[in-house]
Amino acid sequence: MSELVENYNKVRENIDKAARAAGRNPEDITLIAVSKTKPLECIEELRAAGVMEFGENRPQELRDKYDNVSAPVHFHQIGHLQTNKVKYVINRAVLIHSLDSIKLAEALEKEAVKNDTVAEVLVEVNYAEEDSKFGITKETALPFIKEVAESFPHVHINGLMTIAPFVDNPEENRQIFRGMKQLLLDIISENIDNVDMNVLSMGMTNDYIVAVEEGATMVRVGTAIFGERNYNV
Ligand SMILES: *Cc1c(COP(=O)(O)O)cnc(C)c1O
Repeated sequence: MSELVENYNKVRENIDKAARAAGRNPEDITLIAVSKTKPLECIEELRAAGVMEFGENRPQELRDKYDNVSAPVHFHQIGHLQTNKVKYVINRAVLIHSLDSIKLAEALEKEAVKNDTVAEVLVEVNYAEEDSKFGITKETALPFIKEVAESFPHVHINGLMTIAPFVDNPEENRQIFRGMKQLLLDIISENIDNVDMNVLSMGMTNDYIVAVEEGATMVRVGTAIFGERNYNV
């Protein structure tokens, strides 16, 4: 078995174990292999072993990989999306994890209508309010979601996403993940038309186990599967 497949299986096992220990069904958690900066061959290698979900953060890279992969897989746009790059992902990404402004919702609506489709999105919440990160605040999440649902019929909200702070000890992020789950429940209880709240995308290489324990339904793992990234290549 290839090293990539072994790494992937190990992460998947950890998720399953954490889920069962928390009284959750492992099948309720999707592992997204974050392949950003990695060559298409890495995706092909995992795909041959049955892996279907991949995460990219640069729209042009997502487009190129989507257009060149030898058999269809699902690509998730996980990083910040500029309005002028919406065109690259609208018919290619199964899910855009990073809706973070009304301006972006507007651009997604326009492009979705043009392509006779619906943009499937998550709302990115900057829960810890870090200056370095995109996302709306937890306080504005509800009014933001109501506004998007009302104004943009071709933008379909499926849940929430967060990128937790980079910490040495993943336990430090537990309260953030717990808070995200509560926020999801609060929004569910509002029963907003054209909004589903099935997805909670949180947890990366350093903290995905804690995220699963606190209710993540999608985890985005790169380094633990593909190794360190080199942004200079
Ligand atoms: C790069 C990235 C990840 C994966 O990070 P790792 O620490 O390598 O697992 C997850 N989510 C987002 C939004 C990313 O940009």
